[in-house]
Amino acid sequence: MKNSKAILVHPGLMEIREADMPVLKDTDVMIRVREVGVCGSDVHGFQFGPFIPPKDPNQEIGLGHECAGVVVKVGPKVKNFKEGDRVCIEPGVPCGHCKYCRTGRYNLCPDVDFMATQPNYRGALTNYLVHPEEFTYHLPDNMDFVEGALVEPASVGMHAALLSGIRPGESAVILGGGCIGLMTLQGLVSCGVTDITVVDVMDNRLELAKKLGAAHTVNGMKEDTVAVCRALTDDMGADYVFETAGAVITAQQAVKIVARGGKIMQVGTQSKEVPVDFLKINREVTIQTSFRYRNCYPAVIAAISSGRFDVKSMVTATYDYKDVQQAFDDSVNKKAEIIKSVIHMPEE
Ligand SMILES: [Zn+2]
Ligand SMILES: [Zn+2]
Repeated sequence: MKNSKAILVHPGLMEIREADMPVLKDTDVMIRVREVGVCGSDVHGFQFGPFIPPKDPNQEIGLGHECAGVVVKVGPKVKNFKEGDRVCIEPGVPCGHCKYCRTGRYNLCPDVDFMATQPNYRGALTNYLVHPEEFTYHLPDNMDFVEGALVEPASVGMHAALLSGIRPGESAVILGGGCIGLMTLQGLVSCGVTDITVVDVMDNRLELAKKLGAAHTVNGMKEDTVAVCRALTDDMGADYVFETAGAVITAQQAVKIVARGGKIMQVGTQSKEVPVDFLKINREVTIQTSFRYRNCYPAVIAAISSGRFDVKSMVTATYDYKDVQQAFDDSVNKKAEIIKSVIHMPEE
């Protein structure tokens, strides 16, 4: 078996290099990767280098963490998988021992080994990878590898919806209709929420939001986002506001849209400081951040398999592995058109 991996040589340049076969531990499965989703964090890494640069300047930087494939080998202690199984993986492997792991909040583990970031920068854009059985999941027969790869970003949306504690009958505004915004929308729909408004500046995304279950959409370029969102709730404000764009302006809109006693869920990654007018939210508003996901994969896989959660219609571009440079160039240059791109890995 010959392996290769796509490496970020420097910001803006990807290169496919030969690689050693990964070493299979007793409780690991070896997976032939078949599809890899391109995440906003991968695009950020491609453009500017990793959020947290490696300590060792010679560390090879892989990209990609949303993946699915076929099991080709299992370690001697693996119980639930065999060669030929179709699987997807949770790309973050926590330590299993710290207080966060012990209380089930393993996404907060300070020692998590998450793909394509520190400490190991292992990317999913490779032919073969090894992964602990514990964080590997079977794909139902009616799910393909693209859907399998997108269980990861779907879990971000599902986790945000579940963590918020929202209940059917309550209202939600989602600021940002990119991949994570639309995944959050579907997470909310899966939880039985119906009064959902999606705000974005691009009509193609808003159309998709409607198709995926948004009751209302607002184009923030053409309309006054705060005024429209308040009018939709008879000026009461939305019970829940999900910020998914990671922009200062949307975070500031959130405090003006949320209802008294409501909750702002910060899902997007804010890379800058956000000045918040606390006077606007001094009626017992909660601000909660949401980070990745935990214990979500089974629910998300079931939701996709049942047809309630549609990840496929978010895929706007597909590429072959050999065109990985093009895939990332397009992610930067065609940001407006691309909602989700997926890289197809060779079968043999
Ligand atoms: Zn992702
Ligand atoms: Zn831990």
